[in-house]
Amino acid sequence: MPTSPSPVRVVFLGGLGRSGTTLLERLLGEVPGIAALGEVVHLWDRGVLAGEACGCGEPFGTCPFWLRVGATAFGGWSPERAERMLALRWRVDRTRRIPALAALLAGENVGAGATGWSLEEPTELEEYAAVYRRLYDAAGEAAGCSVVVDSSKHASLAFCLAVAGADVHVVHVVRDPRAVAHSWYRQVPRPEDGAPMTRWPPARTSLHWLAQNLGLELLARRGVPVTRVRYEDLLADPARTLGHLVTGLGLGPPPLGFLDGGVAELSPAHTVSGNPMRFTVGRVELTRDDRWRTAAAARHLRLVTALTWPLMIRYDYSWRFR
Ligand SMILES: [Zn+2]
Repeated sequence: MPTSPSPVRVVFLGGLGRSGTTLLERLLGEVPGIAALGEVVHLWDRGVLAGEACGCGEPFGTCPFWLRVGATAFGGWSPERAERMLALRWRVDRTRRIPALAALLAGENVGAGATGWSLEEPTELEEYAAVYRRLYDAAGEAAGCSVVVDSSKHASLAFCLAVAGADVHVVHVVRDPRAVAHSWYRQVPRPEDGAPMTRWPPARTSLHWLAQNLGLELLARRGVPVTRVRYEDLLADPARTLGHLVTGLGLGPPPLGFLDGGVAELSPAHTVSGNPMRFTVGRVELTRDDRWRTAAAARHLRLVTALTWPLMIRYDYSWRFR
């Protein structure tokens, strides 16, 4: 059985949902030595408690990969641990906690009075992050990989991991906010249960897009390794973008035999949660989804631009859309 060096390195995919994180995770997961885990932040409710399907198609509770991870990390999954992690998440892993987390990362004692956190005592934050670290180590061991990918996306979890000293490399995935807003506005059914996926109006998406991207920018300024990848660049030249990224992660130029120009051959992956693309197996055409340019209402596009333009400039997105 292959074994992995400990600790396992974590590649954390950050950004607002519908930015291409699931696609990037699936592609990374095809690289030897890298295991894609899905959106681990949702493992506790959607996996352990609700028993939703793993990316391999098995329910979480009977997927052999996750059974092994649970046994190695915790002596098995339990609803009690899941409930505890959900309670801790509510208290420490929140976008509104990012300023306090950034202060901790900078070595400033934010003081128990202001936040309930102090550098001197074991905290809920440490307990929360320690569970993730055990989970990542066990997943790396079960997959025989030295790198695991968590596509949880939320900047706040990346902060929690970094504050706790995890070996985390953040990949900051950005996509044109007008495309992201259009995706959140459209009606899409969830493959897990057929229920409609969450929909947001464009203004709300714009604010979430700003919050997540600014959070990930702040993480980089606090010294955490962050590599930015534009969805549009990934789709324009998948091999080049992926090669660059994996080399930057210190894994050397990756064998990319699963890529053939604009087509990828995907194998099943034990991803615990994420967008519908996590179930896709076989040949996938890597084409940029630009439907928003013609399908979105012009007033929505103008509103998103008005709310997000400073970061649109930073990420090199042009005003023009038609
Ligand atoms: Zn599975």
